[in-house]
Amino acid sequence: ATPTALLVGTGRGAQLGILIKGPEVLESTRRVDTVVLDKTGTVTTGQMSLVSVHTDEDEEEVLRLAGALEHASEHPIAKAIARGAAERVGDLPAVEEFQNLEGLGVQGVVGEHAVLVGRERLLAEWSVHLDSTLAEAKKAAEEQGRTAVIVAWDGKARGVLVVADTVKPTSKEAIQGLRTLGLRPVLLTGDNEAAAKAVAAEVGIDEVIAEVLPADKVDVVKRLQDEGRVVAMVGDGVNDAAALAQADLGLAMGTGTDVAIEASDLTLVRGDLRAAVDAIRLSRRTLATIK
Ligand code: ADP
Ligand code: MG
Repeated sequence: ATPTALLVGTGRGAQLGILIKGPEVLESTRRVDTVVLDKTGTVTTGQMSLVSVHTDEDEEEVLRLAGALEHASEHPIAKAIARGAAERVGDLPAVEEFQNLEGLGVQGVVGEHAVLVGRERLLAEWSVHLDSTLAEAKKAAEEQGRTAVIVAWDGKARGVLVVADTVKPTSKEAIQGLRTLGLRPVLLTGDNEAAAKAVAAEVGIDEVIAEVLPADKVDVVKRLQDEGRVVAMVGDGVNDAAALAQADLGLAMGTGTDVAIEASDLTLVRGDLRAAVDAIRLSRRTLATIK
């Protein structure tokens, strides 16, 4: 390949809002046949909001304890809960012994109580179970494509908090664009299966890999590669970094974390998934010119 043509491709990329690490990157996009997309922050805006609280306890107490813990976390779900709780109950109490459990939730001590906020799997590790009312609330929320998070303290599940994210207005068109290029989109997420499927259906993806722990996302990419697929991965989070590096082509959302950007070959400056389609189309054209 002549470096000049590749560099022209790189310059055109910049105009399209795509930052390319080096001209040689365009070369590896050519054989890509599968595009793995992270859900939260990539296909969706990642700007979640707290939509409902389900509990038999005092609702304000649930919000105070959960909000206090989540205030210490950077996760989009945590931000939504902390913000929603502060709006409804005002000042949040202090937290001691805070621990972030990557891809699972958070735990800590608030006043007299040992508190957990997170997904059901985290609670199971603590032998905490959901009663049928809470389980129903969780199921109903997930069927609507929402994320339900459980609040437990002192060994008992006390409430379900429902947060909602929204699909980016450009995601559906981008997925269609990927298909037009003959690529297979796959949705990959740590979120629950039902919420993942609801988002996938909304944007037109039929291959969904859900409930994947952050450390396991990279294994999913490896598995697809072992099946002979050439994989591009698009992500935004710290939890996507290893998978972005493992992929044959890593694309980071410019609106995402620095770690994700560093692990990637390309950055989609505006966080618009349509730029991923542009990037692949551009590299094919650039390389066609060279041949
Ligand atoms: P994604 O792959 O969609 O970016 P993550 O791997 O970050 O999602 O998180 C997976 C799941 O773990 C979330 O859907 C949520 O149920 C739970 N979780 C992670 N962090 C938190 C938190 N701070 N508070 C509550 N739940 C959390
Ligand atoms: Mg993400």
